[in-house]
Amino acid sequence: MSFAVTLPDGSKKEFEKEISVKELASSIATSLAKKAVGAKINGALKPLDYKINEDVEAAIVTDEDEEGLDILRASAAFLLEAVIKNKYPEMHFGLHEADEGGFFVDTDKEDQIKVSELPALEKAMEKAIKNGEKIEYAKMSRGELEDIFKDDPYKMELLKDADSEVDVFKLGDFVDFGFDALLPNTGKIKNFKLLSVAGAYWLGKSSNPMLQRIFGTAFFKKAALDEDLKRRAEIKERDHRTIGRDLDLFFVDPKVGAGLPYWMPKGATIRRVVERYIVDKEVADGYEHVYTPVLMNVDAYKTSGHWAHYRDDMFPPMDMGDGEMLELRPMNCPSHIQIYKHHIRSYRELPIRIAELGMMHRYEKSGALSGLQRVREMTLNDGHTFVALDQIREEFAKVLKLIMDVYKDFDITDYYFRLSYRDPKNTDKYYANDEMWERSQSMLKAAMDDLGLDYVEAEGEAAFYGPKLDIQTKTALGNDETMSTIQLDFMLPERFGLTYVGQDGEEHRPVMIHRGIVGTMERFIAYLTEIYKGAFPTWLAPIQAEIIPVNEDAHGAYADKVREELAKRGFRAEVDHRNEKLGYKIRESQTQKVPYTLVLGDDEMNVNGVNVRRYGTEEQISKSLDDFIAEIDADVKSYSRE
Ligand code: ATP
Ligand code: ZN
Repeated sequence: MSFAVTLPDGSKKEFEKEISVKELASSIATSLAKKAVGAKINGALKPLDYKINEDVEAAIVTDEDEEGLDILRASAAFLLEAVIKNKYPEMHFGLHEADEGGFFVDTDKEDQIKVSELPALEKAMEKAIKNGEKIEYAKMSRGELEDIFKDDPYKMELLKDADSEVDVFKLGDFVDFGFDALLPNTGKIKNFKLLSVAGAYWLGKSSNPMLQRIFGTAFFKKAALDEDLKRRAEIKERDHRTIGRDLDLFFVDPKVGAGLPYWMPKGATIRRVVERYIVDKEVADGYEHVYTPVLMNVDAYKTSGHWAHYRDDMFPPMDMGDGEMLELRPMNCPSHIQIYKHHIRSYRELPIRIAELGMMHRYEKSGALSGLQRVREMTLNDGHTFVALDQIREEFAKVLKLIMDVYKDFDITDYYFRLSYRDPKNTDKYYANDEMWERSQSMLKAAMDDLGLDYVEAEGEAAFYGPKLDIQTKTALGNDETMSTIQLDFMLPERFGLTYVGQDGEEHRPVMIHRGIVGTMERFIAYLTEIYKGAFPTWLAPIQAEIIPVNEDAHGAYADKVREELAKRGFRAEVDHRNEKLGYKIRESQTQKVPYTLVLGDDEMNVNGVNVRRYGTEEQISKSLDDFIAEIDADVKSYSRE
């Protein structure tokens, strides 16, 4: 027997007899063998005990490589399974996975393992880690595995697609498969943490049983684990779903409708402020705001092309029984087109800017739904401007300026521009008119270059009717999301036969620009919640001042009077009349992140004053009510920096 192993630097090593990955590493360098945790053999991840006996390309994977971390985390997942199996011999496992985000293990059945049990499981894992228990790598026939797993519906399903011989790993009596490579013993798993438990459908299909997913992570170095846990805590602290619950802003309950959010009074207040703000801003910028129905005859969506290109994302139509089919709109464009068409339009009117806080419904996949960030019912700050060809550039720049103005007001600084083109390899997803695509894509690009703005280009991200400029931001979880968008459209004006009378007295075709400034209320407020970590600036805060009487009997009436004075001037204040300790109420006002906490006792009441504590500070300052009103007034107005 003789074979050659080609290493990443191109060099070759000849061997006369079978060697393990571990032996290969030793033959290269002892220091490498020490750090080695596996190898990539012809591109596939393999464990240290894997045997090489033919010509291959091999790259040793060490504890410093990304793949090394995958091996460590997969080993932690495997060990977790083993200790669970030890504790609950009847437990079945679904999928397991390890990647750059950590690892998870799915277990059957729902609610079998509680979050409160994680520390005990960690203990059991630590014991095995201390003992450095051996993880054996072996091969078993599919038949043998089917014998072992005959009562396990999940493993049996996975085995259906397995080869006749399967790589398995063993820890004592425990056996599992579906891992590429694991460590040869538990000793190196030391720095791990079990993080959380959540429901997960078997194979991700909502028609399948709900399993439990236990999440964890592991690192070779303690410092890296600590760093990661800190980052996770920060994300959690920012996550709008957590804050939304703690501050009672909104909820979504799959039992009454997945992806259909309920806005609680405080969340509704923030939304109302944003809605008023953006409507005022747009009206000042030349938009005409309208209201149009959420239901529309399905024929309109056939004309628009949504029926052909967007149906997967739409709710099924309602059959009204008399031949009429109504559709919940997924977009507002066809509605605004009706407004345009309602009158004969002249070139003198252009650009015509029609806007609406338009409610729409999209049937997003259940796995993609997330708090307010991705929902099935949403209200878009939508607008369509109808322009003549030679007005496109100017109008595009005008919309972009509006977006930038709005971002300033909300203190949004972390974003980038993305020009979204159609996917050239998949053109039948899009309106078929190559010339129109070429022309409008280069028009957008030229407009951005003109303005001297940086952007990235993304193929396959366009709307089916045209290319767009997306303004991309990041969520707390680190995902990219589209906030604002400007889209060029030559198609819908054509399809709906839109015209205007030109200076020459002839009919001409307008171009449509679709644009969303703050996007949907849902996604925008999720985003604001995350960037402000729930500490909304005063102009947006649902409660701007929390008023706390030192003693209800003595100061309750004065507190009400202060509240009334504030309310009269349009400020949102509430009095905490509850029968709780003063310290408790003050703390709660802080956890609710109310910008101003006013404590009112004799000293304040006697001089018509207030004692003010600004959120995030320890300082308490006494001042007259009038001075406070001037202060909060200036604060509320300070967002606008024009
Ligand atoms: P995405 O790629 O995020 O699904 P899209 O490209 O389909 O969005 P558009 O049709 O451009 O989105 O929608 C306009 C705006 O609506 C987006 O900028 C985004 O702010 C918002 N939006 C889209 N889908 C959702 C959703 N499911 N939940 C909340 N907001 C959404
Ligand atoms: Zn539109």
